[in-house]
Amino acid sequence: MRLTVVGCAGSFPGPDSPASCYLVEHDGARILLDLGNGSLGALQRYADIYDIDAVLLSHLHVDHCIDLTSYFVARKYHPDGAHGRIPVFGPQGTADRMASAYGLSSRPGMHDEFNFMRHAADATAIGPFTVETIRVAHPVETYAIRVSADGRSLVYSGDTGPTESLVEISRGADLAVFEASFVNGRVNPTDLHLTGGQAADHAKRAGVERLLLTHLVAWNDPQQVFAEAAQAYDGELLLASGGLQLEV
Ligand SMILES: [Zn+2]
Ligand SMILES: [Zn+2]
Repeated sequence: MRLTVVGCAGSFPGPDSPASCYLVEHDGARILLDLGNGSLGALQRYADIYDIDAVLLSHLHVDHCIDLTSYFVARKYHPDGAHGRIPVFGPQGTADRMASAYGLSSRPGMHDEFNFMRHAADATAIGPFTVETIRVAHPVETYAIRVSADGRSLVYSGDTGPTESLVEISRGADLAVFEASFVNGRVNPTDLHLTGGQAADHAKRAGVERLLLTHLVAWNDPQQVFAEAAQAYDGELLLASGGLQLEV
């Protein structure tokens, strides 16, 4: 699999990166993990936006989902005709939220462009990928997402505070793409985000030896986030940046 970091800015777009979006490719198939503010623009550097097989949304905070409204426009109004439906997996209420954000009624909403589905309890096949999800600790319904193909796996944390479910879904994965929004020394609310050190601790306990720190928020120094993670981690540690590509 190849992972491309389309956007890694935490909570809102930054000057050098859109908000959360990750492109995962394998064997000619392409899926997106999240589609946050600004990401549809940057995505066009790395893929034909009409050649995406599915979109998976970790949760409905705008920095993870709002560019689906722009993607709707791109698919619906292309002068060569509409581009058919692709699956969009997300939390309960995704279809109505996206319709409302764009100013549409619920029906037809975006149902002619997207086949909205809730994240399943069981593993789901999407082309060559197997996708598994688990609820994590965030104020709204949020999922960590594990994507596997040909015996390799990556796990994207979504947004989460410390939780054993992230360790559980990450066991034996080849790459952890974990959010690290917080730094030590501040009052960090519970069940919201991880520090770099907590992200490292979760990856270590899951036995994952390669960790990509992401969801980097503009008011923190990413090098501080990295340094705090490095203290708690022996494996390969990477800091996300827009356009970073990793083979998994
Ligand atoms: Zn976020
Ligand atoms: Zn969030």
